[in-house]
Amino acid sequence: LFVTLEGGDGSGKSTQAELLEQWLVARGRTVVRTREPGGTDVGLEVREIVLHHRGHVAPRAEALLYAADRAHHVATVVRPALARGEVVVQDRYIDSSVAYQGAGRVLDAEEVRGISDWATEGLVPDLTILLDLPWEVARRRLDGARTRYDRLEAEAGEFHGRVRDAYLALAAAEPARFLVVDATLPMDGIAERIRERIAAIA
Ligand code: C5P
Repeated sequence: LFVTLEGGDGSGKSTQAELLEQWLVARGRTVVRTREPGGTDVGLEVREIVLHHRGHVAPRAEALLYAADRAHHVATVVRPALARGEVVVQDRYIDSSVAYQGAGRVLDAEEVRGISDWATEGLVPDLTILLDLPWEVARRRLDGARTRYDRLEAEAGEFHGRVRDAYLALAAAEPARFLVVDATLPMDGIAERIRERIAAIA
């Protein structure tokens, strides 16, 4: 079972990934909780490059770097875990690229997706949880958190608005794959919705 979590910065993806992992483990499943960018040793170096030079990397180069991270991650972590029958709970995947590199950096969405489809040999999640949150709310949340890459300064609200709209459009286009959850809800309520959906397919 391959589950991905998507959403803007500060939407609570990593918290929900952790809660989901705990719940699945309690139900006897073996879970690999991982993330992109940076789910492997190679990927951590790619993450350094894209985040350190954010805003200065040519958009197509950025898209290729994320795809390179993804290719290595899928080949060395995700596919082997799925082949062992484990559950992969992953923070960000192809939809992040379509939203951030596509809508955010204004590249063609289908071209961005095409690069990642090639990179992953077409691996599609069984379920994608979209934690939907207006940027103004996320910004307030993130203001308290110290982030190494100063994401708040680096990215404008307009960029995040495009990213959010792109995510919602992706979810609307593939309702069977997506679960959209209002990320302004309390943490436990969000976790419960996710568990209900997973229980139906796991
Ligand atoms: O989710 P995480 O904090 O690991 O993401 C790091 C940063 O990289 C975030 O600010 C996110 O906006 C950005 N990112 C991106 N394109 C992706 C994935 C992440 O711009 N495909």
